[in-house]
Amino acid sequence: MHFDRPVIKKTLPIYRLDNSVFRIGAQLGTTSEFTDPKCEMWDLVQSLDGSEWQTIVKRMKDMHPRLSEEDIEKGLLDLDKLGYIDEMFEDTATAPRYMANATYFSCFPGASTESAAQMQNKLRQSRILLLGLGGGGSNILTLLSGLGIAGVTIVDYDNVEENNLGRQLLYRESDIGRPKVEAAAEALHAMNSEMEIKAINRKIESSEDVSTLIPGNDLVICAVDEPPFLAQRRVNKAIVEANVPCVFGATQMTHGRVFTIVPRKTGCFDCLHLYYTKNDSRFVKQFRGFQSSGFKSPTIAFAPTIWLITSVMVDEAVRLITNYEKPRSLGLQLEIDYPNYTSFPHPAWPRYDECPTCGNGSYDDWEAFKYYGEGV
Ligand SMILES: [Zn+2]
Repeated sequence: MHFDRPVIKKTLPIYRLDNSVFRIGAQLGTTSEFTDPKCEMWDLVQSLDGSEWQTIVKRMKDMHPRLSEEDIEKGLLDLDKLGYIDEMFEDTATAPRYMANATYFSCFPGASTESAAQMQNKLRQSRILLLGLGGGGSNILTLLSGLGIAGVTIVDYDNVEENNLGRQLLYRESDIGRPKVEAAAEALHAMNSEMEIKAINRKIESSEDVSTLIPGNDLVICAVDEPPFLAQRRVNKAIVEANVPCVFGATQMTHGRVFTIVPRKTGCFDCLHLYYTKNDSRFVKQFRGFQSSGFKSPTIAFAPTIWLITSVMVDEAVRLITNYEKPRSLGLQLEIDYPNYTSFPHPAWPRYDECPTCGNGSYDDWEAFKYYGEGV
C-alpha cells in the first residue's frame, strides 16, 4: 500500500443517484458511476477522510465483515486507477497561499505518481534562472512570485523606460530610470518576501556569461531574444554544458513560439539549425539573406498577448519541475496564435549526434553557423 492516509481528491464531488448507484465527479472525462447495492464502495469512499489506512481497514471490516483487507485494498486501488486518490496533506504542509496550486495539480491524474502536496513541495525547493526582464521576463517574474519557488536569479542590463510601462507591468512610473533588476527585485520582494532573489545587472554577451549564472539553479527560462537567434544560441550552449533544462520563448509579430530543451534528451537549439538545413533546401539561403540584411524589427508588443506566451512559458517550467502534466514544447516549437487564441505544435526536431553543441560534430561542417557575426 503506497498510501498512508488516502483521500478522495477534494476537487471531486461524490453524490448518489439512488440507493444503489453513486457517482464521483461531475465533469466530462472525470466522472465515474458505481453500481453498489451493498454500499461497500460507498462506505469505503466515505471512510477516506484522512485517517491512516489501517484505521480505514478496521472501520470497513466493522461495517462489512465479509470483506478481507485485500478486498478493501483492491477497492482503493481501483479508485486510484481512476485518478481519484490523493495522499492526505495537512494544510500546514502547504502554505495557504500555495494551496490552490496544489489543488490544481490534483486535477491531473496522468503524468505523476506523486501527491499534489509533493509536487508543490518540489516547487518549494526549486531555483530558477530568469534571463531578461523585458516584456517577457518581467511578466514571467510576476507569475513566478505566486508559485512558491525557493528562489530566482534575475538578469538584465536595461533601465526602466516610459515606453516599457504599457506591457512590463511589474514596473511603476516611479521606477523610470532605475535599473530593471533593482526595480524588479524590489517589486518581487513586496509580492513574495519568502523568495530568495538574486539580482544581477549584466548584459549577456556570450555563453560563458550564462554559464557563470547557472550553478545553483534547477531550470533556466530564456526571455532574451536579441540579437535574434544568437541570444538563444548562447543560452543553449550554456544549458547543454551545464545539463540544465531551459524553456525558451519569443514573440514574432502576431504569434509566439515556446520550446523547451532538456540537454541530451531533446534536440538542442543548434540541432534545430541542422534540422532545417536537412529538411529545407532554401533554409541556409534565407538565413544568410536575413542575417546579412541588418534588419532590426521595431518593438511589436501588446500586453494581453504577451501574457499568453509568458503564461505558457511558466506553465511549461512548472510541468518540468513537478511533472503534474507532460510539457507540450519538449524538443518542438509550440506556436501560439494570438488572433485566434490557439496553439499547435510544429514537428519535433531530433537530437543529432553530429550537432557541434550537444553531439560530436564540428561547427565548420554546417554552413548555417557561419553567418553569425559575433561569437557564441
Ligand atoms: Zn544539439
